[in-house]
Amino acid sequence: MDSEEFRKRGREMVDYIADYMTSIRSRRVTPEVEPGYLRSLLPGHAPRKGEDWDEIMKDVERAIMPGVTHWQHPNFHAYFPAGNSFPSILGDMLSDAIGCIGFSWAASPACAELETLVLDWVGKMIGLPKQFLHQTGEGGGVIQGSASESVLVALLSARHKAIKQLKQKQPYVEDGQLLSKMVGYCSKLAHSCVEKAGMIGYVKMRQLDVDENYSLRGHVLEDAIEEDRKLGLIPFFVCATLGTTGCCSFDHLSELGEVCRRQGLYLHVDAAYAGNALVCPEFQYLKKGVENVNSFSFNTNKWLQVNFDCSLMWVKNVDDLTTALTVDPLYLQHKHGDKAIDLRHWGIPLSRRFRALKLWFVLRTYGVEGLQKIIREHCRLAKCFERKVLGDERFEVLGDVTMGLVCFRLVGPNTLTQKLLKVINDSGKLHMVPSMLNERYVIRFALCTEHACDDDITFAWDVVTSAATELLQGRQR
Ligand code: PLP
Repeated sequence: MDSEEFRKRGREMVDYIADYMTSIRSRRVTPEVEPGYLRSLLPGHAPRKGEDWDEIMKDVERAIMPGVTHWQHPNFHAYFPAGNSFPSILGDMLSDAIGCIGFSWAASPACAELETLVLDWVGKMIGLPKQFLHQTGEGGGVIQGSASESVLVALLSARHKAIKQLKQKQPYVEDGQLLSKMVGYCSKLAHSCVEKAGMIGYVKMRQLDVDENYSLRGHVLEDAIEEDRKLGLIPFFVCATLGTTGCCSFDHLSELGEVCRRQGLYLHVDAAYAGNALVCPEFQYLKKGVENVNSFSFNTNKWLQVNFDCSLMWVKNVDDLTTALTVDPLYLQHKHGDKAIDLRHWGIPLSRRFRALKLWFVLRTYGVEGLQKIIREHCRLAKCFERKVLGDERFEVLGDVTMGLVCFRLVGPNTLTQKLLKVINDSGKLHMVPSMLNERYVIRFALCTEHACDDDITFAWDVVTSAATELLQGRQR
């Protein structure tokens, strides 16, 4: 493809994307295909000679789109939102065109500098203390590939720090021996990525009980730490969640922070979804105690109109990260190494895309107020949906509706709600996923698309109640 054809095909692609977004309602939200469907529609080997672009695009509609789950569909209420917007798409286009691999400042100065600048912007927007900012503190922010990666990086940093401190006291003890005793903590409602980080980091990860608000409390953590110390284990890491995946509950950050400070543990905050809402001052009370946190992350690619991937992570002290993650071969060194920032030392991969561009485009086109408006509207709509659920005595709501998520169920055994969800998802009219809260099965209704509106709530509730009526009548017959 030469640049002239690229201009033509690029314009066509922009039209295709704009049409896809504006007519998405006409598609079924979930596909009706079986595993392996694509092999019957496409050849099993790559073409020997290049093909015509029109033929390729025909296959997009014929073979690909029938197997797509439309996350941007107004009737998609599963998981959490998958951030998306035209400015973000354009940002990624430009990033792809520049095609730099910004592992060090020298590898592409604008890539490194824009990343640190926008991380400071967002840090200020969500009210992080100045220690977490590049401009004013000993820490700063970085873009990671996912919230899971941020948790893993935090755990690896904490592990390195703890082993280093222990070795000062016991220099002859093998690292492996220390590792076998190390234990981290999170709540039972923490995302599975915390368990996975423990697996990868080869440390035990204890999942602690939550209170009646599905929140991990300081005394529960402190009891667990003391119990483990008595067993000869080495507590070193805590991952607190602000906005759990199961029900968007909030661990008690100020209590956990105090315990970690007293006990000398590293504290990471996973605020993958809810962290976005901190751009609204009325939600900033949820981060009370953040000054005792070592690192904090959230995914702008969930709720800040930025496309995947763009998980932001801030550390209070950059040495926590860089001492754990720095390797420095000659071919990556450069003459500004002493005074410029090399973000390859802040994460796992060497190669890094120019992800700050899409975030910068979004922040500039929406402005803080534009982003606040979307978050507030989702929270308002979640409350509307909650009122509808509470108004129907066949249903109950579990957990507080603080943000854009409502967890509800049919009163009665779990199997009833399980069947209800299956009927709804099979209909292809709505898409939702379940979670389990203290042994009770709930359906999660998440507000996801940018332009979600009252009519979508009415439609969703109609689908839910019709399915429930049919299910309950069938049970009586
Ligand atoms: N943490 C929380 C609280 C989440 O809700 C999620 C995903 O929804 C994750 C972590 C994992 O995010 P990622 O897919 O970016 O690793």
